[in-house]
Amino acid sequence: MRCDLHTHSFHSDGILAPAEVVAHALEGGVELLALTDHDVTDGLDEARAAAEAAGIRFLPGVEISTTWEGMTIHIVGLGIDPASTILQAGLKRLRDIRHERAAEIDRRLAKHRIPGTLAGAAALARGAIVSRTHFARYLLSQGYVTGIGQAFRRYLGRGCPGHTPTVWVPIEEAIGWIRAASGVAVLAHPARYKLSSGKRRKLLAEFKAGGGHAIEVVSGAHSPDEARRFAQFAQEFGLEASLGSDYHGPFESGGSWTRPGCLAPLPPECTPVWHRWAA
Ligand code: AMP
Ligand code: MN
Ligand code: MN
Ligand code: MN
Repeated sequence: MRCDLHTHSFHSDGILAPAEVVAHALEGGVELLALTDHDVTDGLDEARAAAEAAGIRFLPGVEISTTWEGMTIHIVGLGIDPASTILQAGLKRLRDIRHERAAEIDRRLAKHRIPGTLAGAAALARGAIVSRTHFARYLLSQGYVTGIGQAFRRYLGRGCPGHTPTVWVPIEEAIGWIRAASGVAVLAHPARYKLSSGKRRKLLAEFKAGGGHAIEVVSGAHSPDEARRFAQFAQEFGLEASLGSDYHGPFESGGSWTRPGCLAPLPPECTPVWHRWAA
């Protein structure tokens, strides 16, 4: 079954409407799709309706921002019930943190003689959550940078003038919200975190002990070599494997974002996380 279990719409930092994400997934031959916006579930109803109309199976999802040992780690929840009050209360807390962080990024960039970035980013977000991606797009639109990646390297990433250290929630707490909403917790794009091999093992062990179920083995953010390595980690830690493009839209540059569904298959030794929904 061709899956894509990690995608974004404009309800977080994607470019497209949920129904447009579904249309692109259909073109990519996707048979099972999850929409996994950052810290919000507002796009799920539209995506589900569009997927049903297109004959694609749909899994409601979310990508939750967490902090582990001072580092931001993303946890994807798949098959969640968006009506869960525990999940929604948790996501609301994260959006409040985002709100404060956005104001602080604005202050820091203003001190660096780049004024008005929050207003600019918020206008691009059109009422949805304001992410660093929106700040990056604004900096690009004003000619401060020549690409999204450069905005992160020069202004928003660690050590840059706009970088704002943020404490999200502990991983176990996010896993708890996902489980309270009857979902399955997946460690997103694990090769993207800059960790020593000892720390990587510690993260995987704590994720598993905290109730985590699977890791993304094949990701738009992983090289084929990274996929092979994380297939081995999945085996070693008794975790299932997920697969997702981390699609943010067709025109976004700077990341390694692909089209929905255009991904290599999971290595054969993996147990696909979607076996529970594929029947
Ligand atoms: P936030 O959750 O607001 O901190 O924003 C994080 C988002 O920024 C990620 O989900 C990516 O979509 C995007 N992002 C992070 N780093 C980069 C980068 N180096 N180049 C392009 N996009 C990035
Ligand atoms: Mn994103
Ligand atoms: Mn992510
Ligand atoms: Mn993502």
